[in-house]
Amino acid sequence: MLTWNSDKLALFGGKPVREKQWPQWPRGDLNTEHLLLDVLRSGRWAISGLYNGQELYERRFAEAFAKYNGGGFCVPTANGSSALTIALEALGVGVGSEVLVPGLTWVACASSVARIGAIPVLVDVENDTLCMSVEAARKVISPRTAAIMVVHLYCTVADLDGFATLSEQTGIPLLEDCSQSHGAKWKGHRVGSIGKISAFSMQDTKVLSCGEGGAVFTKDSDLYDKLQQLRADGRRYSAAIPSVGELELEEVGAVQGHNRCLSEFHAAILLDRLRHLDDENRHREQNGEYLRLLLGQIGGTRPLHRDPRIDALTFYRFCVRLDLDDFGGADIETVRRALTAELNISVKLVDNPLNNNILYNPLLSNRTSQSDDHPKRLDPRQFNLPNATEGRRECLCLPHQVLLGNRSDMEDIARAFAKIKENRESLRRFEL
Ligand SMILES: *Cc1c(COP(=O)(O)O)cnc(C)c1O
Repeated sequence: MLTWNSDKLALFGGKPVREKQWPQWPRGDLNTEHLLLDVLRSGRWAISGLYNGQELYERRFAEAFAKYNGGGFCVPTANGSSALTIALEALGVGVGSEVLVPGLTWVACASSVARIGAIPVLVDVENDTLCMSVEAARKVISPRTAAIMVVHLYCTVADLDGFATLSEQTGIPLLEDCSQSHGAKWKGHRVGSIGKISAFSMQDTKVLSCGEGGAVFTKDSDLYDKLQQLRADGRRYSAAIPSVGELELEEVGAVQGHNRCLSEFHAAILLDRLRHLDDENRHREQNGEYLRLLLGQIGGTRPLHRDPRIDALTFYRFCVRLDLDDFGGADIETVRRALTAELNISVKLVDNPLNNNILYNPLLSNRTSQSDDHPKRLDPRQFNLPNATEGRRECLCLPHQVLLGNRSDMEDIARAFAKIKENRESLRRFEL
């Protein structure tokens, strides 16, 4: 049985359930330092630098990450947004075409579609996973739909069977955004290997991180060729090993490329951290499942549904839905603040739905043509996203580093929920 101090809530000046530090994120160790120094002294800091006789960290990471995802090709990029952009461009998505995007996700999913002149069609999510609903997606497919972007959000995997079928039936390619799910497995396959192409972010908070970084993965060699050129100003790795002092890239120009390359420093960190990903994911998964169990005993708290077809789950954020009546009818922001105060860690709401998100402003972009129906088609407010909106009103998210602790850390989290629930009368009287 969990016990907790029945003092008043930390939000009102009581003693918090926990003051101890949580595990730190991002992580690096002596080996990471060693690789970074190796890059520093190597005389080559970028793939567009001159060949120094050593294999690029960027190529080594690309190979390792492709292998990790079950075999195929990987093109590292400067960040996840660039990965999404070149994935869309490689699929041939262009001006005026439509891309289905979940209405609940990080803004870059929609803004990367809008930035290439295409139209994000915002699709509502499922209540129990917060991932895009296959049925809602099916309803808005049109002759202009050029891609379906599915995002595996927080600590779930979207219904990949459903989306694979939808993609097969319609011939519309599936793009998986795995920025929050590196290493998760659906029926034995890594996420990212089921769609035609997939994008990853390795930004600071992600479970595989180098600060700022990204990658695209595909099994299709034609897409791979395009992706390489799209991210290196129309160049790709040379067919032959270059002489020392020469460029390792050959000029092709079969597409309009841009520079979106990942630096050698970042690639070295990723190569190192990738070795730890499975262990860290397992550690988080074990704690996440234990926390799911503990919260189940408290009542009024429902962690997101785990689909039985998921063999390995990645917890980017531990996300839990509250029955707010059990919390004195307080609003979610009040409970979020109360939990943050009890736990000494920043608890978050889920993202703001993209039809009402301060960061998503496609109509303010000077890439938006004013001369035709482009603004009307882009307008986020036209989309109806009831489940995404409800998710925002009822769900809380804990950052994944809390799951890198031990079982007693999970008990602290459950205690904080239980204490807040017990003190719900004081929350009810609290005005924000
Ligand atoms: C983080 C993230 C991105 C953007 O990645 P950046 O590296 O920040 O550009 C895109 N999609 C999802 C789902 C993300 O979580």
